[in-house]
Amino acid sequence: MNTSTVNPFQSYLERLHKAATVLGLTASDEQRLATPDRVLEKDISITRDDGSTETMRAYRVQFNNARGPYKGGIRFHPAADLDEVKSLAAAMAIKCAVVDIPLGGGKGGVQFDPKTHSKQEVERVARAFVRAFANDLGRDKDVPAPDVYTNSEIMAWMVEEYEKATGTKDLAMITGKPLDKGGILGRDTATAQGGVYAMEYMTHVLDMAAKLRVAVQGFGNAGATMARILHADGHTIVGLSDSKGSIMSEKGFDPTHVQQIKESSDTIVDMYCKGMVCDEEKMERDGVTVGSNTDLLEVDCDVLVPAALDHQLTVENAPRIKAKLIIELANGPTTPEADALFFERGITVLPDVLANAGGVTVSYFEWLQNREERTWSAEEVQEKLKPIMTVATKSVWEKSQALQMPMRDAAFVLGVERIAKALTN
Ligand code: GLU
Repeated sequence: MNTSTVNPFQSYLERLHKAATVLGLTASDEQRLATPDRVLEKDISITRDDGSTETMRAYRVQFNNARGPYKGGIRFHPAADLDEVKSLAAAMAIKCAVVDIPLGGGKGGVQFDPKTHSKQEVERVARAFVRAFANDLGRDKDVPAPDVYTNSEIMAWMVEEYEKATGTKDLAMITGKPLDKGGILGRDTATAQGGVYAMEYMTHVLDMAAKLRVAVQGFGNAGATMARILHADGHTIVGLSDSKGSIMSEKGFDPTHVQQIKESSDTIVDMYCKGMVCDEEKMERDGVTVGSNTDLLEVDCDVLVPAALDHQLTVENAPRIKAKLIIELANGPTTPEADALFFERGITVLPDVLANAGGVTVSYFEWLQNREERTWSAEEVQEKLKPIMTVATKSVWEKSQALQMPMRDAAFVLGVERIAKALTN
């Protein structure tokens, strides 16, 4: 997934060092936060549908549990190597500390392409992952969740396999489960909803208009949901994209309609073009331009929401970005060089460790729900999520103002400060 030469773990270390310097952290505390507690790494094998055996690399990085059990998703992706999983595990520790929930940071990955595997094969991978690491998982040890190309169905297989492997029935050992298997209402929309709450606070302090022009990169769960909520709130969705391309129009799109198109075809671009052939008349009527997935980033808009992959906003395209506010629903969409340019240009970046923390926050609620053996209502989830996101955004914003630094650096200062405090307790 990491297409540039930037080593994601190196970026983490640099951000950590900046925060450690601001906080005057001891060298040993900084070292502790620069090193994962444990790196679990194994080859797992599955039988493919044709009877052959495939072996793939699986990782679980338990980064830091100073504030609570390790917490973080498992991704299935060909680029999920150790560096990537390590940096994402570290980011989870910072993220949980920024929203002040009592969990640590972890992340898992299996290096393979689920798109070239059948559903049954993906299920075998999910179960093999759990068998490989079962002894190191558990409600008080390490609690996984969905991430890139994993979902609630996969979580259901995993919790079932955990029970088989350990003989322990423990719904709280994993979050993001289906509703009928211990899942919580609103987990599927939580990342986007959390991003919306954070955005509401930011547009208020930045004195932006009540109705804005928003572009969303990526039409997976987080991106499509965010577009839908913002459209329902009266904002204009001037651009949408998926991995195959983008559609842009000043007149705006209805994401629910786009979703219907996406469900019955390969890409949202099919709304206007079938392969190379575009319906020019329809495009003109709707004021639509069609482009690539990355063209979307440069569209004229007020708010840009990268909700796809990492390293999308780079030193190359950063000078051409027109948005005033960037909400990072994806993990790691901005390179450090692009970050510096945005700061220089006065573009505010709401960093991933804050902007997409709604997901893990509602995972935390699910973990509590399973432990308490009661079912939370949808209202209760929103009543608790909103103040957590608003308070975290306010704290990071105020710190960034006081220390005259980008919000990402301020979020790191806040997160590192809280983790370091827990280390000394
Ligand atoms: N994968 C999500 C993230 O990156 C959610 C993690 C969780 O719910 O534990 O924040």
